[in-house]
Amino acid sequence: MTEHYDVIVVGGGGAGLAAAVSAAERGAAVLLFESERELGGSTQLSAGMFTAAGTSVQRGLGVEDSPEAFFQHYMDLNQWLLRPGLIRGFCDRAGAALEWLIGLGVEVPAAISGDAHTPGLCRAGVEDVWRGHVPKDQGYGLVRVLDKARRAHRVEAVLGTRVQRLRTTGDRVSGVVADDVEVSADAVVIASGGLARDPELLARHYPAAARAGADLFVVAADGSRGDHLRFGAQVGAALAGDGWGLMLPTAYFQRLHHWQSGFPPKSRIHVNARGRRFMDEDASYAVSTGIIDAQPGPVWAVFDERARRALPPGYAHWDAAAVLREAEAGRTARAATLPELAELIGVPAAALTAEVARWNDQLPHGTDADFGRHETLRAKGSTAAPDPIGEGPFYAVRTLPAELVCTHAGLEIDATAAVLDERGGRVPGLFAAGEAGAGVLGARYVGGGNAVANAITMGRAAGLSAARRAA
Ligand SMILES: Cc1cc2nc3c(=O)[nH]c(=O)nc-3n(C[C@H](O)[C@H](O)[C@H](O)COP(=O)(O)OP(=O)(O)OC[C@H]3O[C@@H](n4cnc5c(N)ncnc54)[C@H](O)[C@@H]3O)c2cc1C
Repeated sequence: MTEHYDVIVVGGGGAGLAAAVSAAERGAAVLLFESERELGGSTQLSAGMFTAAGTSVQRGLGVEDSPEAFFQHYMDLNQWLLRPGLIRGFCDRAGAALEWLIGLGVEVPAAISGDAHTPGLCRAGVEDVWRGHVPKDQGYGLVRVLDKARRAHRVEAVLGTRVQRLRTTGDRVSGVVADDVEVSADAVVIASGGLARDPELLARHYPAAARAGADLFVVAADGSRGDHLRFGAQVGAALAGDGWGLMLPTAYFQRLHHWQSGFPPKSRIHVNARGRRFMDEDASYAVSTGIIDAQPGPVWAVFDERARRALPPGYAHWDAAAVLREAEAGRTARAATLPELAELIGVPAAALTAEVARWNDQLPHGTDADFGRHETLRAKGSTAAPDPIGEGPFYAVRTLPAELVCTHAGLEIDATAAVLDERGGRVPGLFAAGEAGAGVLGARYVGGGNAVANAITMGRAAGLSAARRAA
């Protein structure tokens, strides 16, 4: 290891790898530290879905889109609580960042995808234009391609080494300290991911996660320990994104991401404490968590025996036998009739019975006039109408946002990924990206692909800015 580098990158997930490769492409000598034994972080665990506008993939499918439309949608969904200059920069560059990945070898075919698993273009969130780009081999594929580029550029990656703190010279960040060794650099990129795995930081910066109580489970990578906040505190960096993150709605019995946990039956309705249906059960997680949070009291997924029996085998939690076990243990409500089920879960029987009857008259015949769920199902490629809910016994599974995917509280950055201080000035020599660099990910997650797009796009911006500073 030489003593001085142009650029040091802290963290080898999506943002860190994008930064390291981008800086190296500009001729910078780059060193990357990764705390875990392998590269990848949450990016490697992800579906790799990437939201972007005006891409070759969209054009290949005849989808008309532009960064301007993306910006408008992004800001509206986030109620204009984000800084327009930063978001404009992100929306302008996300498409180019995706093309860069494709140029490096990531495969995103110009094909319609119904989900986050099938390579192609899928409906990312609640927007009219399809923007969710799903790469072949998902997040794992992204990381492999970026890592190959890293090696091609001879960027050294030091694995199993958690950076302890920043090195400073005057008011300038001048390197890092890892394993008690100082390594100097002209610029440092913090790309150490989020804070989901640190309960104390979580309570402080994303207290909404605590609403899930004992049902909370974290799927973010082990390295998501909030080190970016500790680094930022050293140099008086401003924070942004406080109080925001992404929780996915799940059944109370799930403890794994849905790829392993499985999926609830298509033939189900969600009802609130008033026994009323209140949402498109397949609504994008851009909005579904907020809709559930807004309900008075608990929310229940109601389905029947036929739906339970039809659950496909092979999943850890949404499996016919597993649901039966939950019911027999008394944790999942089960009753011979809907009024009895209503009594068990404490909702008005008349309302629940009426809602099931109304749904049976609608979606099993092709349309959901109340919530438009048929359109969501069609976008997912799920065209067969669901069965009516009518064969007892009936089940009610408590449903709540409890799967913690990522956190948005981090070091405030500008559109060049420079870290800002409390007065809005740049901290000399310091850049941040991904979950560590905040301001792009807002209160409302912009449907599948927001966080990976943020990591790669702003990671690339950070790498280019850091290389420029070093030059
Ligand atoms: C199961 C799952 C599915 C997801 N699916 C999607 C999706 O399809 N689309 C989407 O947009 N988002 C998705 N997300 C969210 C998204 O993957 C992440 O927000 C994003 O990839 C974060 O990238 P990052 O580079 O900021 O962090 P990470 O990829 O987590 O990388 C940070 C790295 O820094 C390392 N590190 C931490 N501290 C230190 C330190 N002190 N020194 C050195 N190294 C350190 C960590 O070990 C880690 O490897 C998903 C997340 C999960 C968990």
